[in-house]
Parts: sequence; structure tokens; C-alpha cells
Amino acid sequence: MKLGFIGLGIMGKPMSKNLLKAGYKLVVYDIVQEAVKEVVAAGAEAGSSPKDVASKTDIVITMLPNSPHVKTVILGKDGVIEGIQKGKIVVDMSSIAPAVSQEVGKALAEKGVEFLDAPVSGGEPKAIDGTLAIMVGGKEEVFNKVKDILLKMGSSAVLCGDIGAGNVTKLANQIIVALNIAAMSEAYVLATKAGVDPAKVFDAIKGGLAGSTVLNAKSPMVLEGNYKPGFRIELHIKDLQNALDTAHDIGVPIPLTSVVMEIFQAMKVEGKAKEDHCGIIQFYEKLAGVKVRKK
Ligand code: NAD
Repeated sequence: MKLGFIGLGIMGKPMSKNLLKAGYKLVVYDIVQEAVKEVVAAGAEAGSSPKDVASKTDIVITMLPNSPHVKTVILGKDGVIEGIQKGKIVVDMSSIAPAVSQEVGKALAEKGVEFLDAPVSGGEPKAIDGTLAIMVGGKEEVFNKVKDILLKMGSSAVLCGDIGAGNVTKLANQIIVALNIAAMSEAYVLATKAGVDPAKVFDAIKGGLAGSTVLNAKSPMVLEGNYKPGFRIELHIKDLQNALDTAHDIGVPIPLTSVVMEIFQAMKVEGKAKEDHCGIIQFYEKLAGVKVRKK
């Protein structure tokens, strides 16, 4: 079976390499040539456009920044839809607006092409290890056809509902992650100004109820003052905007999300949109006039 992979960024690069390692033949495409060269060096073939990739493969996977990129790559000029044949499958693993997943799924269905939205959680380290958590929307029989492939990139793949349900689940995930990072930041700034070493706070609480995957992943970073992404603030702004839009469309107020969104916006104004999302601790540090560092 030949797979297409479009979007070879922080996530797509290691995910595509894991598929190569698992023995799949891959045709890849990205607008950044350096990224294509790196994955070709690992054994993939280069496609000349999304259309070309789709015409040469059985299942096309996309891993792109946001809704407009997915629409361009799948539905646009020289897009996947122009090259793909009836009966084939497109799996979009980007985190995008659920309504756009439904729009893309509908357009592909008119050509007899199946579609799944299958965003991921876990970030670059889990993309490299092939242990991402994958949340899927679409038909069960289509999910069953691609499950083995998904499990080469992730340690779990859960069908959450119809097309769009994967991205609704991802929005829920992103709300929880954003609020956890904000809570961690407030707590470590408080501890630091109160004269307690934040590294000791982390050690003491990580096994208790406040412990979390977010705390384990982000505490070492903020204690070192390391904001290298990882997951960029600008991408989390995109996810929270999609969460706010989706929530408001269906009449769900999400007040805490909107507060954290404004903190992310303040970081963007400071020119820090490309830093890791745990970089929002600098917002709290500035308010309190302390720096959180392990002693
Ligand atoms: P990224 O910006 O590093 O990669 C996106 C890639 O898409 C880039 O290589 C870019 O050149 C390519 N691209 C953009 N437009 C294109 C086009 N028209 N045609 C072909 N290629 C195009 O982003 P990323 O961090 O890899 O994230 C990808 C998706 O995964 C996003 O939706 C993000 O929210 C989600 N995600 C990221 C993380 C993370 O930790 N980085 C974790 C979970 C989910």
C-alpha cells in the first residue's frame, strides 16, 4: 500500500518517518523543499503537488497548520481532490475547525472519496516516539481500514463520532492543556515570590491530584526558562479561536478559555508567538515581578 503525506513540519516530519520505518511506501509534499529533502533522504518519494501525491497513492494523510491550509491543499487548485480516485481515503490529521472538516468531507464524498478527521495530541516528542493520542471522526468502516496505519504514529486511536468529532475532541483537549499551563504558571509564580523553590513544588505535587501530563512535560521547561517549541503560542491561539468560534456557534460560553486566549494574545503582542505555549509563564512573571527558575 502506498501512502501520501502532505505537510512535513514539526509534527508531519517525524510522523511520516515513522510510517517509512513501519515499511510503508510514501509520496510526500510540502511547500518547504528542505523538509521534503529530509523525508526523501529517509526513503520517501517526492510528489510535485497535492494532486500528484493523490494520483499516486491509496491513502492521503495531511498534517497542516489550520483550516485554510487544509482547504487549499485538499480542495484547491492542484489539490488532492483533482488527483484522487473514487474509493480512496483522505485522513486529515491537522487540528482545524470541525465545521471545515465537515465541509472537506462533504466535497470529497461528492467524488466518492472517504474522509476522516484525525487530529493528534502529544506534541513533537510523542510524534517522534510514535506514541501520539489520535482522536478520529468519520465512518467506522473507514476508521477500521486506516487504524493500523494510525497506530504506527500513535499509541491510541479512538473513533469519537462522525466527521468533525475528531476536531471537537481536539478542541476539548486544547482547552484543558491551555488552562493547565495557565494554572501551572500562576502556581509557580506564587511559590517563587513566596520564597519556595518551584522545583520542590513540582516534586512535591506531581504524584498528587494536581499532577498531570502537562505538568510533567512543561515544568522542566519553565524551570529552565526554555521556551523552544514544541507547540507554538500562535498554534494554540489558532486552536482557542476555533474553540471559541465553535462554542459560540452552538451557544456554549467558555469563560476561562477566553481569559487564557487574551494571555496568549498579550504574548503575541510582545513578539513571542513562535515560543512554546509554556512561555506564557513570562506573562505571570511580569505581573508579579519575579522569575521562576529552579535553584
Ligand atoms: P508546522 O507549521 O511545523 O508544519 C506545517 C507544515 O505544513 C509546514 O511544513 C508547512 O510548510 C506545511 N504547509 C503549509 N501550507 C502548505 C501547503 N499549502 N502545501 C503543503 N504544505 C504546506 O506545524 P506543526 O507543529 O507540524 O502542526 C501541524 C498541525 O498539527 C497543526 O494543526 C497543529 O495545531 C497540530 N499539532 C501540533 C502539535 C505540536 O506540538 N507541534 C501537537 C499536536 C497537534
